[in-house]
Amino acid sequence: MRAVKGMKDILPDEISKWHRLENAFRQRAEAYGFREVRFPIVEPTALFVRSIGETTDIVEKEMYTFTDRGDKSLTLRPEGTASSVRAYVQHSVQAREPVSKWYYIGPMYRRERPAKGRYRQFYQAGIEVFGDPGPFVDAEVIDMVVGFIASLGITEVEVLINSIGGPEARESYREALLEYLAPHRAELCPDCQRRMDANPLRVLDCKVPRCTEIAANAPSILQHLTDEDRAHFDGLQETLTVLGTPYRVDGSLMRGLDYYTRTLFEVLGKGEGLGAQNALLGGGRYDEMVKSFGGPDTPAIGFAIGLERLLMAMPQGESDSHVDVFIVAAQAGVRGEATLLSRELRDAGLRVESDLRGGSLKSQLRRADKINARIAMILGESEVERGVVQLKDLQKQTQDEIPRPEAAKRIHTLLTQ
Ligand code: AMP
Repeated sequence: MRAVKGMKDILPDEISKWHRLENAFRQRAEAYGFREVRFPIVEPTALFVRSIGETTDIVEKEMYTFTDRGDKSLTLRPEGTASSVRAYVQHSVQAREPVSKWYYIGPMYRRERPAKGRYRQFYQAGIEVFGDPGPFVDAEVIDMVVGFIASLGITEVEVLINSIGGPEARESYREALLEYLAPHRAELCPDCQRRMDANPLRVLDCKVPRCTEIAANAPSILQHLTDEDRAHFDGLQETLTVLGTPYRVDGSLMRGLDYYTRTLFEVLGKGEGLGAQNALLGGGRYDEMVKSFGGPDTPAIGFAIGLERLLMAMPQGESDSHVDVFIVAAQAGVRGEATLLSRELRDAGLRVESDLRGGSLKSQLRRADKINARIAMILGESEVERGVVQLKDLQKQTQDEIPRPEAAKRIHTLLTQ
């Protein structure tokens, strides 16, 4: 048996960099006042169809949808915003607080063509802010994630921003776009010909090469913004400038989900390691979505960042050890006592490993080396009798005899040096 195509195991050897990344995200999000939300991995299919949009690639081609034993159509979540909005409305969160700031971390599912940096199960970390119309919060959110990426040692990035306005701008743009697309209709892929009738904006994020070429010369939505949309977009740019966050306005930035309004942004990784899949994150404002799910009129903004892509773009750090101290039983007769010593040290907050299968002193020390333990603690009959242990610093190759009650404290001191 093998894992499903496009879905990967993350084995314990790789997990420490995942933990570091997830912890760094948590810390950064909490520093900005976000609190974690966890929602189900499976949701009613209609949630995604209605929010992401019927003519998007995700809904048309990529969802893992199945009928459960109660004849309900369910879908493995392809992203986190729809579930966040559902939860926000379901629990009437707006009645408790005017502004809610949430973050999440977890797996998402899309049946895309697997490639380097593109998987069918992948991990996203994301944030959502409900109740703030911006534009200052838009700038703060972008600045936050740019700072987070920089804190991981990823320095070569480009921030792209755009505004697609509200419903009014979109309606006027839709007409202009249709006028532009009409003479090209026959050259578009069959999906896009259908999209022209249902939702012409979706033609702009089609990945078929000829469609991309045609989309490149399409008129920009920026010319269709209302005065309010324009002032909002100007406010975002001014705040980014005050914050010193470099950005580039890209009038063709669209993003493949229907629910966006006004601010859109993407951060691209420019360094080696990412290859063709260089979009690190995508986000935007979705001011209409809470209302369309039966909630009160609530503006909102969020983004999702791909954890696999961050790991690919991050400089390779030293691999660290998962063990502080390795306990070695010098003779078979003290194995019980060595197990007790392990427990004492674990209770004192240390990460302790030993080879309970026993074996020679040499083979146990070899194992301590192999798993990169910093310290070995050797216990023999004479040590048990005298209430001491031999503390061996495996890095410095020094050995000391110390009273057993002092062992934990000595190890803590050594580890912080
Ligand atoms: P989206 O939800 O499509 O806006 O994507 C946001 C981010 O999630 C992207 O910039 C990627 O970093 C990541 N991402 C999206 N789809 C995949 C995938 N199939 N495999 C790996 N990462 C992905």
